[in-house]
Amino acid sequence: MPDAVKVGFVPFSTAPRGILVVFCDDALKFGRTASKALGAAAGIVKRAAAASRFKGKSAATLDILAPEGLKVDRLVVIGTGKPSALKDSDFLKFGGILSGKIRGDNQTVTVIAELPSATMSPDQSASLAAGIRLRAYTFDRYKTKKKDDDVTSRADISIAVGDVAAAKAAFSPDNHIVDGVIIARDLVNEPPNVLYPEEFARRASRLRKVGVDIDILDVKAMTKLGMGALLGVGQGSARPSRTVIMRWNGGKKGEPPVAFVGKGVCFDTGGISIKSAGGMEEMKGDMGGAACVVGLMHALAARKAKVNAVGAIGLVENMPDGNAQRPGDIVTSMSGQTIEIINTDAEGRLVLADLLWYVGQKFKPKFMVDLATLTGAIMVALGTEHAGLFSNNDQLSERLAKVGSETGERVWRMPLGSEYDKLIDSQFADMKNTGGRYGGSITAAQFLQRFVDDTPWAHLDIAGTAMGAPKTDINQSWGSGFGVRLLDRLVAEYYETRR
Ligand code: MN
Ligand code: ZN
Repeated sequence: MPDAVKVGFVPFSTAPRGILVVFCDDALKFGRTASKALGAAAGIVKRAAAASRFKGKSAATLDILAPEGLKVDRLVVIGTGKPSALKDSDFLKFGGILSGKIRGDNQTVTVIAELPSATMSPDQSASLAAGIRLRAYTFDRYKTKKKDDDVTSRADISIAVGDVAAAKAAFSPDNHIVDGVIIARDLVNEPPNVLYPEEFARRASRLRKVGVDIDILDVKAMTKLGMGALLGVGQGSARPSRTVIMRWNGGKKGEPPVAFVGKGVCFDTGGISIKSAGGMEEMKGDMGGAACVVGLMHALAARKAKVNAVGAIGLVENMPDGNAQRPGDIVTSMSGQTIEIINTDAEGRLVLADLLWYVGQKFKPKFMVDLATLTGAIMVALGTEHAGLFSNNDQLSERLAKVGSETGERVWRMPLGSEYDKLIDSQFADMKNTGGRYGGSITAAQFLQRFVDDTPWAHLDIAGTAMGAPKTDINQSWGSGFGVRLLDRLVAEYYETRR
């Protein structure tokens, strides 16, 4: 699907057309280029600001139609607030806000990337552009009738900057990261009759175009490997399970990779322990972890990250059926450990158990981060503002928390411990797949930990953040693509070889 917006950079000297967007601070001060563009219209802006009580607070907007004396159709002023309080992450948000102001077909927009006191840096202008694209994303491929204000379509946005080449260079990696987020959102939003394990694997295979090696394990291959935990989940579905291994080798030859593992339950009915009907349609998003891993691998490869990275996703459909797994079944995982199935709706951890083991043993990674829409309990604990973070490694946790606050994809560390681990001991097998009602996201994480050995590992429970989270300035989509920007930043800040 083509983007709803086209974003490019032009020099400050370009004459504004269509909609003009400028920034001002909390003293209603404009920069030099913006002041020049406003010219005689500055008085109108002052009056409009007073009339609508616009005070230039951060993210506040002032909208003036057909401003007299200006050769544009509309003027949008965005407040940046107090200059000393500006943060790097504000620019992504400003991009989102201005993008949200553009409605209707075939709009032309000029944005003057200038703060009252200075030209925006290339990184800041790049964030603006990224925010514009993230906000403009819509998933409407199944709507045959579009309402007027449904979409922003074919808006052509020019960001006027001091140094076009520098802005373009700064935006190039960000642009690939946004593509990765959009890939993840698309996957989460797709209906489950369209996106089943084999189709998901085909879409992941598209990453070959950006240089990612793709290996697809079918049921036969996974049976041979002994992935009894993963296969048990998919056995009730008419759609065969798949595992996809993606590899990007942008680092030094022989250097251990970083690894990302995603839960890809393309639809989760709960299986024989079937869910209630209300809201079950949302379980098409139970592959949000896998979607993030695909988006992330795209971002890393497309921006040619100097790192060796492995992405592994387990793709299954959890259905009730004559051949479905039963509560009481005991399965043998690839690690050799046996698992008693208590509740067939606690299926994500079964998929991850075999993947974590496989990735840990086969690739000996520097670390593994898994992402999964794993438990409803994490939403009870943290709501939709933070993903749950569980880890056996303090350094990895601290790094994730730091890049979380930088990107706005925030994580909150939750406890692990032997008292919790005991709760998943089983009377018939090595462990059982649920630990009871209390601490449900913690016992799920304890279960995963039994399959990671000594590898530094972090588990992100993204049930509250990957889908259906409240809309934000940079995301209006049900599937948010949560995790792509977070983990790309983790790699960029800590694991890429510097030249
Ligand atoms: Mn489930
Ligand atoms: Zn699930």
